[in-house]
Amino acid sequence: MNLQRDRSAWLHGPGHPCQEPSTQIGRPYRLILLGAPGVGKGTQAALLSSALGGCHLSTGDIFRLARSTGPGELTPAMHVAVDRMKRGELVSDTTVLQIVRERLGCLTCRGGFLLDGFPRTVPQAAALDVLFQHAGVRLDAVVSYELAEAEIIRRIGGRRTCPACKAVFHEQLRPPKRAGLCDRCGTALVLRDDDQPGAVHVRQQAYLESTAPLLSYYHQQGLLVHVAAIGTPEEVFSRTLLALAVHFERGAS
Ligand code: AMP
Repeated sequence: MNLQRDRSAWLHGPGHPCQEPSTQIGRPYRLILLGAPGVGKGTQAALLSSALGGCHLSTGDIFRLARSTGPGELTPAMHVAVDRMKRGELVSDTTVLQIVRERLGCLTCRGGFLLDGFPRTVPQAAALDVLFQHAGVRLDAVVSYELAEAEIIRRIGGRRTCPACKAVFHEQLRPPKRAGLCDRCGTALVLRDDDQPGAVHVRQQAYLESTAPLLSYYHQQGLLVHVAAIGTPEEVFSRTLLALAVHFERGAS
């Protein structure tokens, strides 16, 4: 099943309602995807969204879109956020939480969701818990993708993104049909600002210092599901479905 989901409400925020998918795929799943930058969360989110339903809700995509709209149209807070993103630093909790609160409808959507890149700090996770409590939303699981740092660096170094349609390729692992050009729209592929070597180092540090503590946070809530992220996207995807099935079976028994 390959449903193209309408992420307008998430990407553009208030005033941009989405068209909910007309086809429901069974029960809704409410998942958070964790893992160091470059581990492949975005790729897995897209595969999971097709298989399980629910929109791929990436906070990174919101900031990248803001960046491409041009500085003149950004609020001061968004301007600062985009600058931090370019350097690989985390955006402040205050700004991120404001952006997520404005998009609460995506978290209460009857189709479920796949959160990618949020929460990224313990204060963000605690604030999300409060939002969920007030909205009566129950999280199903938090998937932690795990991969050795050397492999992560290799994956990020070869990653190329289409600045027009946002499709992602990899020079060795998933090359485009025509070298350097997007398969979908023919635009020249680029190395994202935050995939430049200096920014990658800052992002890995930010992950270790700010995001890794979330593993014990969600382990304590009985929500954490570990998945080895080595192998092809399809292999990791199958592993994810299996790990989730085991997690749900345990919860049911
Ligand atoms: P990602 O695509 O998830 O790697 O996010 C790209 C960049 O956006 C990050 O390196 C941060 O600068 C910023 N960002 C995205 N989500 C968050 C978040 N939850 N907290 C802080 N910064 C974030």
